[in-house]
Amino acid sequence: MSFVRRSVVLLFIAALVVFTAAPLTVVAQTPTKAIVLAWDGTVPSFVREMLREGKLPNLATLIERGAFADDVKAEFPSKTAPGFASLVTGAPPNITGISGNRVPRLPRAEFTILDSLAGFSEAPLQAEPIWSAATRAGKKVVISHMPAYVGEHSDQAVRFAGYELSVGRDGIVTRRAIQTRLLEPWADLPASDAPPLEILFTIGETFFFGLLIDDPADSQIGYDTLLIATTRDGLDVKAKLKPAPASAGGELFWSAPISVSINGQDAKTYFRLFDLRSDGSDLFLYYTRPARDLRFPSADAAPGGTARSFIGNGASILYNQGALGRTIPNGGSGGAEARYLETVLMAQHQLMETNRWAIEQLPWDVFLAYTPFPDEAEHLWRGYLDPTLPGYKPDIAAQLRPLLERVYRNCDDQLALFIEKRPPETILAVISDHGMQGINKRIALNRLLQEGGLLTLDLQGKVNLSKTKVLYPPVNNGYLLINSADRKNGIVAPQERAKVIQATRELLDSVRDGDRPVITAIYDSESDGTEMGIGGSVGGDLYIDLAPGYDFDPRLGPGPLISEAEPYGNHGADPEQSSMRTIMLFNGPGIRAGQKLANVRILDFAPTLAWLLRLPKPKNATGRVLSEILEQP
Ligand SMILES: [Zn+2]
Repeated sequence: MSFVRRSVVLLFIAALVVFTAAPLTVVAQTPTKAIVLAWDGTVPSFVREMLREGKLPNLATLIERGAFADDVKAEFPSKTAPGFASLVTGAPPNITGISGNRVPRLPRAEFTILDSLAGFSEAPLQAEPIWSAATRAGKKVVISHMPAYVGEHSDQAVRFAGYELSVGRDGIVTRRAIQTRLLEPWADLPASDAPPLEILFTIGETFFFGLLIDDPADSQIGYDTLLIATTRDGLDVKAKLKPAPASAGGELFWSAPISVSINGQDAKTYFRLFDLRSDGSDLFLYYTRPARDLRFPSADAAPGGTARSFIGNGASILYNQGALGRTIPNGGSGGAEARYLETVLMAQHQLMETNRWAIEQLPWDVFLAYTPFPDEAEHLWRGYLDPTLPGYKPDIAAQLRPLLERVYRNCDDQLALFIEKRPPETILAVISDHGMQGINKRIALNRLLQEGGLLTLDLQGKVNLSKTKVLYPPVNNGYLLINSADRKNGIVAPQERAKVIQATRELLDSVRDGDRPVITAIYDSESDGTEMGIGGSVGGDLYIDLAPGYDFDPRLGPGPLISEAEPYGNHGADPEQSSMRTIMLFNGPGIRAGQKLANVRILDFAPTLAWLLRLPKPKNATGRVLSEILEQP
């Protein structure tokens, strides 16, 4: 809206106040813009507890003046790629075609039940997303790192797709890289009170030369500085790092983005020196996943530095491997967790710097932003926080809980940016795609199918498609595929399907862990598909609900049917399970304050947002318009 038009509206409203004292709601409270922040994998019960303790102040403010649901039903499987496909289209997986984070390949005649595509980036989205509906109506849209799909019509939208830009893994450099003396002389050797030590390491094809020095300007005794260069030249130093243990203020110790080359691609990484022994005998240098630079619309002044160089995730893989130090569940004292948390804060900081730039510099009517938190941390720790899991250790839970809270609080901190930047006529929504449950057992369904004669492996231990009728495919989406005759190398004729389904059901129903049934429900997409939004050309045949605490293991070959695992968090389960529920919030002009929403599904988000903004409904949406969220005029 231009300044002039806005002024006219304001004058008109003023006139109403002065001359008629008419209710202002209808005129003044029509939202024309929206900001949507998606928190991946938000667990409602945890949010409730944190809200009660006053630990999510920004979310609390928005809830107080908005409409909030904390029992939002996901779709099946309750995974991220299908969840976001459903959130942004208002359609279930059997319509979006995104039936998992990886999906079976089409056309069936050309691909076997083993073939798959990445749901995020390679599988075509078969339904219209909200941003296409918005651009159809002439609105401008910014999409910041929300999961991307193929075949979207988003020409009019500005999109940051950082997760497509990562070209390598994050990593650490430790004492193995240290040389006890300079192997070759350096040009312009920087001043040092102790003999400089060299460290040598590579990231991708980029060779780095580091120097450990005792900086004369630094009063710390011993080695206190790491200089990083790509040649042995003190004038070529790309980063000057001071060691500091992980802490809340640790962001100050990160390097600027540094160029690296990976598989011939130009990328950037960030360095962080978490530790350096003063005698130069050891160090702990972390670097983020190298990623290509984000692309910015050429017409605008593109930002530099942090806003441009994507990170995306915290160091969860290294944490899980114990590479950040001994973890609390393994007897550690919290150092590994502190390092992990700092990587989370840095990844979030980078996302928000991009958002800050975009929200200020780009024209937008709908601004959609994504963060992979709290999901990433939920995966690490939910298994230890779930008191219903056998083997639950209250002391471990008590140590991990504040750390997970820290991740949620950081998500809440990020909300402040959007609250601050939002124009008055703007809806602010917070959405999420699924919940999380604690897991400590896994069931290898292929083992069962093999024993039941429905799956046959060849001598190399691979699936023998000519003798296999049913498979739990490697896409690991909570569904079985029938090796039907319409698929490449398929053998189950249509008239045989019912018999194969029956045999499979009997096998699944027979599974016990001790006395406990493990498989709690089985849904046939042919009979239950339309009602449940499952199946379709890209979906599965039989969808399976496991008892709480159990996860699928897509492994083939020998090994136990049911195995124990170190506790972890996961999602993907039947959305009827209460642990898979998540949150949704609408706040803004016209929305009834303090309202608790019931009977909400992630499918309802896109049609409701479209309705609030007077946009055409996304073409394939089947979700409900949550019309109860508006104040009555
Ligand atoms: Zn997710």
